[in-house]
Amino acid sequence: MHLILLGPPGGGKGTQAKKLQDDYGLVQLSTGDMLRAAVASGSEIGKKAKAVMESGGLVSDDIVIGIIADRIKQPDAKKGFILDGFPRTVAQAEALDKMLGERSLKIHAAIEIRVPDHLIVERITGRYTCGQCGAGYHDSFQKPKVAGKCDSCGSSDFKRRADDNAATVQQRLDGYHAQTAPILPFYEKKGTLHLVDGTLPIDEVTRRLKNIVDGVAVG
Ligand code: ADP
Ligand code: ADP
Ligand code: ZN
Repeated sequence: MHLILLGPPGGGKGTQAKKLQDDYGLVQLSTGDMLRAAVASGSEIGKKAKAVMESGGLVSDDIVIGIIADRIKQPDAKKGFILDGFPRTVAQAEALDKMLGERSLKIHAAIEIRVPDHLIVERITGRYTCGQCGAGYHDSFQKPKVAGKCDSCGSSDFKRRADDNAATVQQRLDGYHAQTAPILPFYEKKGTLHLVDGTLPIDEVTRRLKNIVDGVAVG
């Protein structure tokens, strides 16, 4: 099974991808996570990506297409994957199509998690993750059960992203509408586009996503 989660920055793609990957035995492929790892490692790609990520812009198509082309060849991607944060431009969507076509693979569902712009600032400025295991949290919407302690691994080492500040949010939203939203018709024409209301509580969004995934799995 190959799924794409689409939607604005802070829309809940990463949160939902983590839930779906365990239930369906898929691997989450987040270009944002891969790029942040490249920045942290100081690699050539990381050096090129750092400033543009911090400013809220998009990294070049060539770089992210290269990263995904390598990643989907890895053995663990054979069990199926959930793309989170890729594709983000029409050129990326077309490149993905070509990569999958060459391997006789296809996208089973591209699901838009729709959240209006006015809710995004709070989503992004309240976001943090566990520095040990990567579990995602929010200051108001997804607090750890025990304050200051990760539910999954017990760590009290949390971190916030450098780009998760009010200043970059508008730029990231503008980029989403100008460059990413135009890929929705691409998947609509293929008949693989689905829509979920991302303003609902996290568990309800998960339930609706699973309904869609179960539907395409049998269909
Ligand atoms: P994305 O991967 O699309 O950028 P995230 O999954 O990181 O978004 O979610 C952004 C923030 O909003 C996180 O702090 C997360 O805990 C929170 N969040 C995710 N889904 C919901 C939801 N349905 N309702 C409220 N908060 C949510
Ligand atoms: P969010 O869902 O909050 O926007 P991501 O973790 O998906 O965050 O991405 C963080 C940053 O990494 C983006 O703002 C962008 O600079 C870069 N990035 C991630 N994925 C892509 C992509 N597919 N194409 C171009 N840039 C990307
Ligand atoms: Zn943890």
